[in-house]
Amino acid sequence: MSLPGAGEARRQELAANLAAVQGRIAAACAAVGRVPAEVTLIAITKTWLHSDVRHLVELGVADLGENRDAEATEKAAVAAAAGLGGLRWHFVGQVQTNKARSVAGYADVVHSVDRSRLVRALSVGAVEAGRELGALIQVDLGPPGSAEGRGGATPSGVPALADEIAAADGLRLLGVMAVAPLGRPPAPAFEALAEVASKLREAHPGATWISAGMSGDLEVAVGAGATHVRVGSGLLGNRPVAR
Ligand SMILES: *Cc1c(COP(=O)(O)O)cnc(C)c1O
Repeated sequence: MSLPGAGEARRQELAANLAAVQGRIAAACAAVGRVPAEVTLIAITKTWLHSDVRHLVELGVADLGENRDAEATEKAAVAAAAGLGGLRWHFVGQVQTNKARSVAGYADVVHSVDRSRLVRALSVGAVEAGRELGALIQVDLGPPGSAEGRGGATPSGVPALADEIAAADGLRLLGVMAVAPLGRPPAPAFEALAEVASKLREAHPGATWISAGMSGDLEVAVGAGATHVRVGSGLLGNRPVAR
């Protein structure tokens, strides 16, 4: 149940947050001589309501991200049933191999491809669904063997994984993704990611995406060349349960 007018108040709140995030992206671009059109904002709607998805879409957001299969399945289905068209769903969480088939059924891009088994499972799912799935290799930017990394393939594992994705039916290799390591300044990590991305493009010129930067570090990521930023709390507020 919501109070009369609560929906409109929320819409205005999201509109203001969206304008603020777009302003941050524009300023970060200006600081390094880039143009905002080079950076796509992905709204991470995990834990938030369908009504928020609708508000964001009506405000012009077309790229939405989720990190859990069950929630993403439901959000994508509800949005489709509500007639919200032209959306791109980004899966940004760890994908269990047994969920790959499900994810391949609704996701447009999976940001977290980190191992061969997952490449094969996503390929099977995409072919079965008759869809083409964009794939980003998640790169672990923590010191080797440390607990500071946030998941992903090691930088040295990227070339082989990239070749597997490029050869897999139903998958299109789009680029790389990373989350800045815990407890470290993000700039060196995002610079390292840009290096990995640049080497990747030598072998796979179409793999142009760099998905990096969240609410707290999007300026740093844009400064290091991010093409896609994934913003949750900066748009929607603090999640009731952090994840
Ligand atoms: C939750 C999440 C985000 C968004 O984080 P915020 O700090 O809320 O902007 C981005 N990327 C991934 C992989 C996430 O899980």
